[in-house]
Amino acid sequence: MSDRFTFSVSATSGDARVGEMSTPRGKIRTPAFMPLGTAATVKAMMPESVRATGADIILGNTYHLMLRPGAERIAALGGLHRFMNWERPILTDSGGFQVMSLADLRKLTEEGVRFKSHIDGSKHMLSPERSIEIQTLLGSDIVMCFDECPALPADRTRIAESMRMSMRWAVRSRDAFGDRPGHALFGIQQGGLERDLREESAEALKRIGFDGYAVGGLAVGEGQEAMFDCLDFATGMLPEDRPRYLMGVGKPDDIVGAVKRGIDMMDCVLPSRSGRTGQAFTRRGVVNIKNARHADDPRPLDEACSCPACSQYSRAYLHYVFRAGEIISSMLLTWHNLHYYQELMAGIRGAIAADRFEAWEADFHALRAQGDIEPL
Ligand SMILES: [Zn+2]
Repeated sequence: MSDRFTFSVSATSGDARVGEMSTPRGKIRTPAFMPLGTAATVKAMMPESVRATGADIILGNTYHLMLRPGAERIAALGGLHRFMNWERPILTDSGGFQVMSLADLRKLTEEGVRFKSHIDGSKHMLSPERSIEIQTLLGSDIVMCFDECPALPADRTRIAESMRMSMRWAVRSRDAFGDRPGHALFGIQQGGLERDLREESAEALKRIGFDGYAVGGLAVGEGQEAMFDCLDFATGMLPEDRPRYLMGVGKPDDIVGAVKRGIDMMDCVLPSRSGRTGQAFTRRGVVNIKNARHADDPRPLDEACSCPACSQYSRAYLHYVFRAGEIISSMLLTWHNLHYYQELMAGIRGAIAADRFEAWEADFHALRAQGDIEPL
């Protein structure tokens, strides 16, 4: 196990890459999907169950954890890994995105963002320095720069101003992070869908120098086609020898399309949140377990899936516990969805390693186009 943060690419297929990040807390196989451990828990899952799905790393949210239970409290209790009983790598976001979307009464200045907690109305400040301090207190393995981005569509002037402030904040984040062997700091490219702004942002980040680079400001309402068009040029602007992270993405076909365009890491609330709302992701698309057609169906959700929900329960049972509001419904469907996402990533990695990603992608879309199995 490395005592430093490292990244290496072992094979490519087109622009898709397979590789590995190494940290003192373990290896992360890429392309990687990171489940959300938003508030120090992957909702409805035990940490060992999260690991059993194949996850190498999870994501924690600075905004939620700073408000409750508080970063200083978690640090005093031994850090986030120990607190939530997950000893493997953790990536934390900077809080920038969530403070702009969740907090009340926020005020954005060059210094940072002042806001009131959505939980109790208490007053807080997030700046590059404070965000890095919080992520350090949590003990995060991969720390993100504090940045800001507008929801799309937004006018070009607003996107440019926001991007340039985020680049000034990236310098402050780098200075605040200092030298922490074994921990990584990632910069975040901004610039909306504008090629020249993306280029300007990438150049600014490369001058500062980071352990990895994220494509930020996408999956904020622009739609899949616009996102892919942007990734077609944005990913290639980032250093080839560093991991590239697409933040907040996405649905299974978003993930496949992002990997195809050179992305190495992704996160999304979708598999876990959908697990709590009765939606299951399968090789043949989304299944709504609440639909009446499942009420008498003794077949598994997906006969090819080896997760507990599929190997030990019927569609009829999953339908019944969801309709009855039983807690096991969230547990089983979340497990299945996270398992599906990790199986998807394993399939992707295998296809890239064999240099047959394009053929794999065609099979992926063909199976989904068939839709769910016929009702009984
Ligand atoms: Zn399953």
